[in-house]
Amino acid sequence: MNSSSVGDRPSSMSEATSKPLNFLEQIVTQDLESGKTQKVVTRFPPEPNGYLHIGHAKSICLNFGLAQRFGGECNLRFDDTNPAKEDLEYVESIMDDVRWLGFEWSGEVRYASSYFDQFYQWALLLIKEGKAYVCHLNADETREYRGWATKPGKDSPYRDRSVEENLAEFEKMRAGEYAEGDCVLRAKIDMASPNMNMRDPMLYRIRKQSHHQTGDKWCIYPTYDFAHGQEDAIEGVTHSICTLEFADHRPLYEWFIEQLPVPAEPTQYEFARLELNYTVTSKRKLKQLVDEGHVDAWNDPRMPTISGMRRRGYTPASLRNFCEMIGVTKSGSTIDVGQLEFCVRNDLNDNAPRAMCVLDPVKVTITNSKGTETMVQPVHPNKEKFGERQLPFTQELYIDRADFTEDTTLSRKKFKRLVLGEYVRLRGAYVIKADEAVKDDSGNLIEIKASLIDGTVGENPPEGIRPRGVIHWVSATDSIDCEVRLYDRLFSDEAPDSGDKNFLDALNSESLTIVQGCKAEVGLANASAEQSYQFEREGYFCLDSKYSTTEKPVFNRTIGLKDNWAKKV
Ligand code: ATP
Ligand code: MG
Repeated sequence: MNSSSVGDRPSSMSEATSKPLNFLEQIVTQDLESGKTQKVVTRFPPEPNGYLHIGHAKSICLNFGLAQRFGGECNLRFDDTNPAKEDLEYVESIMDDVRWLGFEWSGEVRYASSYFDQFYQWALLLIKEGKAYVCHLNADETREYRGWATKPGKDSPYRDRSVEENLAEFEKMRAGEYAEGDCVLRAKIDMASPNMNMRDPMLYRIRKQSHHQTGDKWCIYPTYDFAHGQEDAIEGVTHSICTLEFADHRPLYEWFIEQLPVPAEPTQYEFARLELNYTVTSKRKLKQLVDEGHVDAWNDPRMPTISGMRRRGYTPASLRNFCEMIGVTKSGSTIDVGQLEFCVRNDLNDNAPRAMCVLDPVKVTITNSKGTETMVQPVHPNKEKFGERQLPFTQELYIDRADFTEDTTLSRKKFKRLVLGEYVRLRGAYVIKADEAVKDDSGNLIEIKASLIDGTVGENPPEGIRPRGVIHWVSATDSIDCEVRLYDRLFSDEAPDSGDKNFLDALNSESLTIVQGCKAEVGLANASAEQSYQFEREGYFCLDSKYSTTEKPVFNRTIGLKDNWAKKV
């Protein structure tokens, strides 16, 4: 859609979803109509100091989504102003994640660091105009001079240095003559401002660290505040969207745009960040989970990172749908993670091929077998175009141990599976009867002898034979061995990091269960990590991209068929 078609839409509704426009869509619509904006330019500005998480997915969908909907552009820009915590690994993972979510940025990837020369020139300009000074107060003194919300700050003793002195001092900072923490460059605004951000904020600080993009060229780095709005201006960003905690920074954002000869005048808007229950979404805490080995990596399938959810089998569409569903607002609230799981389940139910996998196999021998037969099943019950799959029905089969009992007193309603002496249908194959339970010396069930009822493939059994239900199965001789990993929520506490809780105390000790010796239908030998399957009666699964080998595939349970937590909590 190009921007000229925007005027045609009803102004309060979104064409794509027929939902009311969110407040940002309303602003953009007005700006296009009034001519304030010719073409919408947004940006997604991650700091490459960790992997992206579900909160970032919301910001990505919002920024790229606005550009898409209004015929504009969205940049991917790394806000790489703090070399101490940043890394190329993060840069690469972020690009991967954005693309995987289904978005493409406009032009080349941008880096705040590629504007460092410009920022430096602008800092010099502020100094020359008497609007910035080098300050040697240490951290404690700076805090003390700053005052607090209800107490005005007081001027730094360095505030009234001459322009020449400031230029000389700033040059010494740049040349590496000072150590980290010795001094900073500050804007000269108003130490009595009711807005703490306006009390002579820091513009540059010393960091004697190599930068992943600029190497050792700089030992002074601009702060977020001094960089962000100017990055937006350089890139012609029209709507600079950030989370609510930056609302108090907006006057400063505007101050810089006003003072500096920037090529464009972006406007900052704030929206509520996504908070999910049972989840932490702080990069610092996620990094701690990785560094301390509570999870196996940033992309551990239990992590709320985009790469973790991907490895777990969440689909890009399910994440986009979730972000659409929760919407964009100006006031924060915590979203139930069940809503995210609902979106995942919904998408997989519609799109995941069906397959059978027996997690806890017990052998069934068909005593009246007619040799190997091939059963044909649809790949998806409602999607003919997905095609068919072939299942070898052999003399020896596996069913799940939990699907058999010798207890003949269980009611048909309670136990819709195989009972000794009774009938059950094997999915897509025969109705069988359990004739005998074979035990080892210690009394463990090792085999079920069963007989098939002729003529029951795709047909009802004869009068008098009433199968209790339908269970899944695989051939014992023509199936693959696999490992299955069952995941539960990483935290068992609804608000793992609220108040003064230590989020590590809330880790769910049962968040991972590894099941060995599972048997899956042969077709799954060709499974790929990007494709999720519904293992019938078990849930949705996908191949694990890290631990799978050709000899032993490992399947992650993406999510169960039903929401078990709704009952638990
Ligand atoms: P974290 O607190 O996890 O470290 P951050 O805000 O420091 O996150 P950035 O890399 O600076 O991480 O974020 C990039 C963009 O994503 C920013 O515009 C930020 O506002 C947005 N963002 C971060 N977390 C969330 C969230 N939970 N919900 C919505 N947007 C978010
Ligand atoms: Mg940030």
